[in-house]
Amino acid sequence: MLDGNVRRVLTRVAGGLDELPDETSRDKYLWELAARLARGPRPGDLNQALMELGATLCTPRAPACPDCPIVARCLAKASGEPERWPRRAERPAIVEARATVAVLARGRSVLLARRSESSPLRGDWDLPAVEIRSSTGGPRLCRERSRSTAWSSNSAPPASCCATRS
Ligand code: SF4
Repeated sequence: MLDGNVRRVLTRVAGGLDELPDETSRDKYLWELAARLARGPRPGDLNQALMELGATLCTPRAPACPDCPIVARCLAKASGEPERWPRRAERPAIVEARATVAVLARGRSVLLARRSESSPLRGDWDLPAVEIRSSTGGPRLCRERSRSTAWSSNSAPPASCCATRS
C-alpha cells in the first residue's frame, strides 16, 4: 500500500521522481519500486516499516535523518535538503473576476449552465453567468445570454433577476 508516509519515504530515498512529468508516471515508478523492494515471505513487514518510518522519522517538515536506519542509501539526505522532497504541487494563481449571474427559476427548478472549456471552472454546472468589465454591462449581457436558452426564448428574464457578484 502506498499511503502518504510510504510515498514520502520512497520518494526521498529513491530520488529523481520530481523529474517525471506527471502524477501517473510518478505513481507507476513508486509502485514498481515498492514491488522490487517487497521481496521475501513477509512483504507486509516492509510496508509496515516504511509507514512507521514516514510517521516517526521521515516527517514532511523536519526529517530526523541522523536517526534513520536507511540514511546511507537516501538520495534526499545526500542532497542536503531532504525536506524539499517530494516537491509540492504549485498552486495555480488566484484570478479575480466580476460576473453577473442570472437566476432563472420556473416552479421548483432553476436553470443551470455548464461552464465552457475556456473557463477556469470548465465542466462545472453553475448559474448562467457572464464575466463583466464594467459595473453597468452585466445585466444586459446576462439577458442577452439567457435569450439563447430554451427557458428564456419566450420571455427574457427581468433585470431584477440578475445579481452581481465578485
Ligand atoms: S534519511 Fe532522512 S529523508 Fe531519507 S528516508 Fe531517512 S529520514 Fe527520510
